Amino acid sequence: MAITIERDKGISRGAEEQFGLECPYCGIYSHMSPQAVPDFENLAHIRPKHIGIVYQCDACNAPVFLRFAVRQFNDDSIDLYQNFIELERPKERFQFSYLPKQTELLFREALSCYSTNNFNAFASMCRRAAASSFTSLGESGKLRAFDEVMAAQDIAEIDDESFDPIKKVIFDSGEGDELPLLNRAQAGILLEVMKDMFYQCFVRRGKLSRAIKVRRFFVQDGSSGVKSSA
Ligand SMILES: [Zn+2]
Repeated sequence: MAITIERDKGISRGAEEQFGLECPYCGIYSHMSPQAVPDFENLAHIRPKHIGIVYQCDACNAPVFLRFAVRQFNDDSIDLYQNFIELERPKERFQFSYLPKQTELLFREALSCYSTNNFNAFASMCRRAAASSFTSLGESGKLRAFDEVMAAQDIAEIDDESFDPIKKVIFDSGEGDELPLLNRAQAGILLEVMKDMFYQCFVRRGKLSRAIKVRRFFVQDGSSGVKSSA
């Protein structure tokens, strides 16, 4: 099962030859093939504690960088620990173009914190992104956003105690030090609730009004088209 870099042969993964990962570029769980493996002679000479290997995503051909810790140097091989660090994690996606400019900027940074496992930086940026969105939505819009978040809690069947920190992060702005500390699980809930709230308040509205505009355009423009094809 060990991962080994062998003199003159390159990398091998023992019995577990197939190796898959969620690609940070295309987001597909894909087979990864080694693309660039460090030179054995050089590694044997400098004996680093960690080494980097570039894999290639078989779905989109993008390079994926992984870092492994070295377990042992042997005469003709180097054994690596199986666990690795992904230097680029898959990005969380959202239809940012529907958000107000400032909210978009702040929420992009929030998702980038989440992708790098910085969950409390993520929570802080969620509060800023939410506050910025409430400025655009106005007081009635903020009340509607609150209703959407309550509806999300109800749909997901999350109890009040678990949901309280999520609500505090989103709605208790102006009391900076009161931001609760979140763990991975709570950050995951916050992520989904924020996406849903922004979807309901901005994306849905933007998509619907754009689609209706397009329909109206074709109705106005279409009368001559219908005649000519009839
Ligand atoms: Zn890919």
